[in-house]
Amino acid sequence: MQPLSNRTYGFTDSVIRRMTRISQQYDAINLSQGFPDFDPPREITDRLAEIAASGPHQYSVTWGARNFRNALAAKQSRYMGREIDPNTEIVVTCGSTEAMMCAMMTVVNPGDKVAVFSPFYENYGADALLSGAEPVYIPLRPPEFSFDPDELESVFRSGAKALILCNPSNPSGKVFSYDELLIIADLAKKYDAYIITDEVYEHIVYDPFRHTYAASLPDMWERTISCGSLSKTYSITGWRLGYIIASGRITETAKKVHDFLTVGAAAPLQEAAVAGLNFPDSYYTDLRAKYTELRTIFLNGLRQIGLPFTEPQGAYYVMLDISEFGCADDLRFCEDLARIIGVGAVPGSSFFAEPVNNLIRLHFAKRSETLNAALERLSGIGKMKK
Ligand code: GLN
Repeated sequence: MQPLSNRTYGFTDSVIRRMTRISQQYDAINLSQGFPDFDPPREITDRLAEIAASGPHQYSVTWGARNFRNALAAKQSRYMGREIDPNTEIVVTCGSTEAMMCAMMTVVNPGDKVAVFSPFYENYGADALLSGAEPVYIPLRPPEFSFDPDELESVFRSGAKALILCNPSNPSGKVFSYDELLIIADLAKKYDAYIITDEVYEHIVYDPFRHTYAASLPDMWERTISCGSLSKTYSITGWRLGYIIASGRITETAKKVHDFLTVGAAAPLQEAAVAGLNFPDSYYTDLRAKYTELRTIFLNGLRQIGLPFTEPQGAYYVMLDISEFGCADDLRFCEDLARIIGVGAVPGSSFFAEPVNNLIRLHFAKRSETLNAALERLSGIGKMKK
């Protein structure tokens, strides 16, 4: 038989999602794929129960239900510091996963180069290949995960049409400083490139770090496609509610792409999530406090176990250095970790363009009891030494 499409050969299934299946297989505490084990806010789930009876149960407007767009525009206008038009500047998508894919298909042509910082969230490599683009990687160097502006400039000079910017970053936990973002923005303007952001951790940032929206930088609105999601902010990763926010010129095209990709995000879930979008600012302060507490518990526990890691400035991941185990294959290490120690992690190699096999990623979006149980298990990690 003829081979299947060429575009599918350059990547495997998601190792992040595969590690969830492996965790389930071994009954491991799953700190691999980043999602919470605590409930979403009651206001949202109560509203969902009402909507089960009252509807809507049919399609919403393809680029998002009116109530949802209005509530999202009001909330994001407050945080992004500019008036977002709910009719012309928002496209509601099935998670930020679709938002990113839709943004890529809206911006790049087959053969275009797309700049990606490495380490990067696994999806971006596949997104680039699926949209026919060639990813070009710029290393973020630990411990600060800083980039070399000359290296970034050379990628733009070589013709990169867009840069994917995950801020706060998964998996490194880096929060790009205002000055770093200005360097990126200046280069994007100088070389007439777009910035596609992934800002799903916008509200999960630890003191003293602060998140700056790339779209809010001087003269960046017209060339930034901001992708976001409700998944992490309201603990509803399974609802698959994401969005693109961009200028009308961009969303007009993104709406077409989205329309033919998925038609629309789930109508009842959009309606229920309005309850969350209408929360007062204190909700986001409390969310930050909650994650700060979980981070403290987890990092303190890891310190006692004694493996090195870099403290995340935002998001909810930690990269643990497993150099002392001298393993050649970090995927195999993670499979063994799930089977022998009972904790699910993601091999670092899933996130790097460079060859890396001495890191594993763990997440701490779990109840404190779950984190303590995982730490207890991880204290036996010495068993993994050959
Ligand atoms: N962002 C989460 C992670 O990196 C997972 C997201 C997903 O699987 N769609 O683990």
